[in-house]
Amino acid sequence: MMTIPCPWCGERPENEFHCGGTSHIQRPPLDCSDETWGDYMFNRDNPRGNHAERWRHSYGCSQWFNVVRDTVTHDIKAVYRMTDPAPPMPHTGPEPAQ
Ligand SMILES: [Zn+2]
Repeated sequence: MMTIPCPWCGERPENEFHCGGTSHIQRPPLDCSDETWGDYMFNRDNPRGNHAERWRHSYGCSQWFNVVRDTVTHDIKAVYRMTDPAPPMPHTGPEPAQ
């Protein structure tokens, strides 16, 4: 089981949290095309390596925050509040096939 460092409560077991999906997704303007809106609603990257995610400490302080997690090793590289900018995230997975 992972332990996740809540910015308010400290290290807690994973089962106290819920993942809210990918962080930093920009909503397109309302007059965008159906294709752009559909992409925003349904398509997400599935990277191998560092991935910025939103997490909520549901069975603790109930606060939302961001986590940069390696999707292969589950190592947590960064934790920051929703109002903080994303830290630099170097690509850690294998290079895409040519
Ligand atoms: Zn908390």
